[in-house]
Order: sequence, then C-alpha cells, then structure tokens
Amino acid sequence: MIRPFTYQALPMRVIFGAGALAELPDEVDRLGLERVLVLCSPEQEATGQQVAAALGKKAAGVLAEARMHVPVEVAHRARQLAAELGADGCVAVGGGSAVGLGKAIALERALPVIAVPTTYAGSEMTPVWGLTEGGQKRTGRDVRVLPRSVLYDPEMTLTLPAQLSATSGMNAIAHAVEGLYAPDATPIVSLMAEEGTRALAAALPRVVADGADLEARGEAQYGAWLCGAVLAATTMSLHHKLCHTLGGTLDLPHAATHTVVLPHALAYNQPAAPGAVTALARALGGVPDPARALWELAGRLGAPRSLAELGMAEDDIPRITDLAVANPYANPRPVTHDGIETLLRAAWAGEAPAALRRQEER
Ligand code: NAD
Repeated sequence: MIRPFTYQALPMRVIFGAGALAELPDEVDRLGLERVLVLCSPEQEATGQQVAAALGKKAAGVLAEARMHVPVEVAHRARQLAAELGADGCVAVGGGSAVGLGKAIALERALPVIAVPTTYAGSEMTPVWGLTEGGQKRTGRDVRVLPRSVLYDPEMTLTLPAQLSATSGMNAIAHAVEGLYAPDATPIVSLMAEEGTRALAAALPRVVADGADLEARGEAQYGAWLCGAVLAATTMSLHHKLCHTLGGTLDLPHAATHTVVLPHALAYNQPAAPGAVTALARALGGVPDPARALWELAGRLGAPRSLAELGMAEDDIPRITDLAVANPYANPRPVTHDGIETLLRAAWAGEAPAALRRQEER
C-alpha cells in the first residue's frame, strides 16, 4: 500500500551530457545575465579561467578562493567582489565548496547561480546553504540559493582523482541511503535513490580503474544528480548527523568521512528500515546485506575504511558520541549512546559493519 505523502518539486533545470559546458553562454543569456562572476577552488583556477574565457565579455571575473564548508571570511570577500564588479549572477565550477560559495552570495545578494559540478557531492541540487564561523557551521534552507541551471558535463569530471572520485561517489550514495528511510520519503524520491545508488555502484569501479572512461564518468554523474535530488527532497538522519559532527569537530575530510561512516550507519539502521534494505539490495545487485556490500565496495575502490586513517584519535570517540546523541533527530532506529559508541568504535577501527540483524530481532 502506498503511504500518504507530500511531494514538493523544486524548480530545477538540468542540462546533462558530454560537452554540456558548451551550453553555458546560452544559459547565461536565458537568465538575462550580463556580468557573471566565476567561482572555483584554488586548485581549479585553470578550469575557472577556461570557463570565463568561454563566456567572453559576460565574465566579470574569476574568484578562485572556494574552500570546504564556506568560511564566512571567504563569503564576505566573494559578496564584496561581486558588488565591486557589478556582477548580476555567478557561475560555480567545482564541487560542493564552489557551489557553496555561490549559494553564500545568493543568500545575501539574491544573484542567480549556475552550477557546473565537477564532483559527485550533489550540493547543486539542493536549497541548503552552509557558512562556517569560528569553527561553527551554520546551515539553512532557502530556495533563493538553489542554482537556476545545472550543467552536468561528464568531461568536467575526467580530472577528478581516483580517490576523490571514489569517496565523492560514496558521499552521493549516502544521500540516497538516508533518503530511502527518511521520515519524508516519497515514492518518486525512493525511485531516484535506488536508481542513483545502482548507477554509482556500477560506475565507480570503472571510474577508479580508468578515470578517462567517459561513459563510466557519465553514469557516475547521472547517479550523483539523482542522489543530490534525494538529498534536496528528504530529511537526513544518523549518518549525516555523525558526519556533520565528525567534520565540524575534528575537521575530517568531508567525502572520505562519509565513505567510512556509511556502512556502519546503515548497518545500525537496517533492522528498522526493511523497505530501504530491499531497495538497496536490488540496487547493489541482489546482495543479502547492503551495509556489508557498501563496505566491500569501498574496499574495492581503494577508499579509506577507518576513521583512524583519516586522523581521528581513539580518545575522541566518547566526545563525538556525546555530541551525536545530544539532540534528538529523525532516525528509523532509536539512537542510543551505547549503540552510537559501538558504531563509532567499529568505524574508527575499520571493522566490517555489524551484520544484518533484522531477522534475529523479529
Ligand atoms: P570540494 O568541492 O571541496 O572539492 C574537493 C577538492 O577537489 C578541491 O580541491 C577541488 O578543487 C577538487 N576538485 C573538484 N573537482 C575536481 C575535478 N573535476 N578535477 C580535479 N580536482 C577537482 O569537495 P566536495 O566533496 O565536492 O564538497 C564538499 C563540500 O560541499 C562540503 O563543505 C560539504 O559540506 C558541501 N556540501 C554541501 C551540500 C549542500 O546541499 N549544501 C551537499 C553536499 C556537499
């Protein structure tokens, strides 16, 4: 039986395909923009300049200062530069950091953002913004920050290193996993979550084996788009809470942290989320235990599987546990102090996630 639900579609325009970047000048025209500021990370400055060159006189400048979690100083500088240059829009080229900077400008100055994603993080599909000040990250939802156009061009991901491709792809799968057992899951979003997981799980081993495999890059980016749309439409639970806490408190790398925690968070929730287990088992090729399958996938991809190797000290486990259970949030299985501490100890040590206990608990 279909449960009652409410589904709110977001105003999204997606242009997908190898060579889609060539559509950028038309997208700028379509939005009536005359002077756009191009945003990227310092490591991708050459890409930012290339995008600006393609825009000709419609590019007002390039700001190559995007950084993870959008430090408030960077956001201030970007807003100031946009005002000085008389920019009437932004083009964010890069991963979640570049898109996040575009959102920070849009939040205050209401400038439209066009996104050209080059990782699988999915921020380009969401109205969620984040700003970090004094080590504290604030986040919020505001439809004004949602990019007006997203150009998914798999050619733009060819340079994404194997390790980052693997962890960024696992980060995307995490959105789908939590979307499947979210309190506000809906049938259409669950379809996207299952298909996004399938596409990424199939594509990532090929991407890691050969980063220049454009077909595999396309399938991975298609999966990332779907998973990003799931993130936008649902409320995230335990997994995202743990990653947010670990990232914010210990400054662990974003995508790698998601990769390590996901199998453990899913194993914790599997007994209470039979529908999600069924969908994920299908998406991962008929596996009996999706949490274990994701842990094995991370291993095959050569991705990190322990928080210890990301630099977390064992002594930090109690503090992170306290923070992760301090405020209640939606989760299919009750969040207990002991349960989370056990989960974190296994993730810290790089152990296989706890086996599926659904049948045993019945
Ligand atoms: P990122 O944007 O920080 O990129 C990581 C590194 O990879 C950077 O140095 C970047 O320049 C480089 N890079 C990106 N694409 C490349 C490519 N194709 N070739 C070579 N190098 C490339 O990392 P991310 O994981 O995409 O984003 C993480 C940030 O995004 C975090 O701050 C996270 O909180 C945020 N995020 C926000 C949302 C949201 O909905 N608001 C969703 C997902 C992630």
